[in-house]
Amino acid sequence: MNKNSSNIMALAPNTSNKRETVCIFGTGDFGRALGHKMIQSGYPVVFGSRSTQTSSLIPKDAEVLSHAEAAQKAAIIIIAIQREHYDFLIPLAEILHGKVLVDVSNNLKINQYPESNAEYLAQLVPGAKVVKAFNTVSAWALQSGTVDASRQVFVCGDNMEAKQMVMDIVRALGLTPLDQGSLLAAQEIENYPLQLFPMWKFPILLSLGLAAFFFVYSLIRDVIYPYVYENKDFSFFIAISIPNRICPVVALILLALVYLPGVLAAIIQLYRGTKYCRFPDWLDKWMLCRKQLGLVALAFASLHVLYTLVIPIRSFVRWRISSRILSQALKNVTEPLNTTHAWLSDSYLALGILGFFLFVLLGITSLPSVSNNVNWREFRFVQSKLGYLTLILCTAHTLVYGGNRFLSPSSYRWYLPNAYMLSLIVPCIVLVVKFVLIFPCLDKPLSQIRQGWERNPQYSE
Ligand code: NAP
Repeated sequence: MNKNSSNIMALAPNTSNKRETVCIFGTGDFGRALGHKMIQSGYPVVFGSRSTQTSSLIPKDAEVLSHAEAAQKAAIIIIAIQREHYDFLIPLAEILHGKVLVDVSNNLKINQYPESNAEYLAQLVPGAKVVKAFNTVSAWALQSGTVDASRQVFVCGDNMEAKQMVMDIVRALGLTPLDQGSLLAAQEIENYPLQLFPMWKFPILLSLGLAAFFFVYSLIRDVIYPYVYENKDFSFFIAISIPNRICPVVALILLALVYLPGVLAAIIQLYRGTKYCRFPDWLDKWMLCRKQLGLVALAFASLHVLYTLVIPIRSFVRWRISSRILSQALKNVTEPLNTTHAWLSDSYLALGILGFFLFVLLGITSLPSVSNNVNWREFRFVQSKLGYLTLILCTAHTLVYGGNRFLSPSSYRWYLPNAYMLSLIVPCIVLVVKFVLIFPCLDKPLSQIRQGWERNPQYSE
């Protein structure tokens, strides 16, 4: 028999036996939705309510009894009631003794109370085994069956057997339980639904800030300057030309910012001579949101690709090409092919295509469904080696785009360089420092430090 098969059997929910009755206190939105889902999954459900009158909203196969009567019919009781009303459980303490109480409650604010709702419940009914679960699943998702976004159910509790019973129910409902440990984890679990994309805040704010800065910058250089000096109205640049300048610039800076904290961390470790000393908080936070920074960068790069695709159909571009052809026809001259320019233009496009291809590859490998299927070494290879290669290609794409315009005074307007020149600052710093760090005199001690060597024990914690 397969060595692992017994484990698989143990993890699978017990589908052959008749399901045990589950009691739900509270016939509100969440209680009803959970009750409905449980009945669908084969669980007999009994509701404990202040009013034993049944209504058309309550699942028709469920019984509605008083709290005391309902509690006696089940070993597991789900408390689908707000924390503010938990007092009513105190007189029921004797009946609830030894029962598994599942706290599903959420709060209106992060860390609203000094202790979690689940710990508060455990204090009110000390004889019960309290488990926190289901708070990250919404009543609407349960009822409509669209639980894709919240298929994971975080479970925590001090009693292993009670936690196992709840996790079996979670699996039977087609959801995925994630054991978060003891009841101490409840506060964090209760805060999850109140957080709004916590890891995305910094990358999104930063990218919006950069986009706003480069919008104003390009507006001054490309619209206001020609209007003031040449009386030309290029205000239509706001629709495509300026966004197509902002997107690659922001994408390149953000991509470089994905790799900058790694380089800073290496310098700090080399300076301290140990890895056993915490990085400053800002660096820790920055490192934690590198994936999100990279994905936002990829979004900007994708927009750049889309904007570039429409260039040939733009009326301004078609006008420029036709007037150039006309002027050559009128002068009866054909401009000779400038092979240097052709080389630069083709290389610039090729570098952009390759850079974008690797960028997409990086984005795909960061998806959990893909990263879960590669080992740590493979993941590091893609994210670090291919990541740096992407940064090199995208930086080279921008450098070749600049060509020999970097030194030309006519490309400066009001002493302001082109936006793409500014976008090269951070990537060039990252690549130069990374290059220096590869030298054996730095790479060797850094590898030793990362393997646990301590060259400077005064910094160890
Ligand atoms: P709800 O619709 O307001 O229902 C709460 C229920 O609590 C009421 O229907 C009532 O049931 C009972 N109740 C109210 N006052 C009470 C009192 N003084 N004493 C005893 N029972 C009382 O709220 P809900 O949306 O179902 O939420 C219930 C719990 O689930 C909350 O803790 C919430 O944080 C949590 N939750 C909700 C969702 C969601 O999507 N709604 C998602 C995750 C977690 P009876 O009339 O039957 O007594």
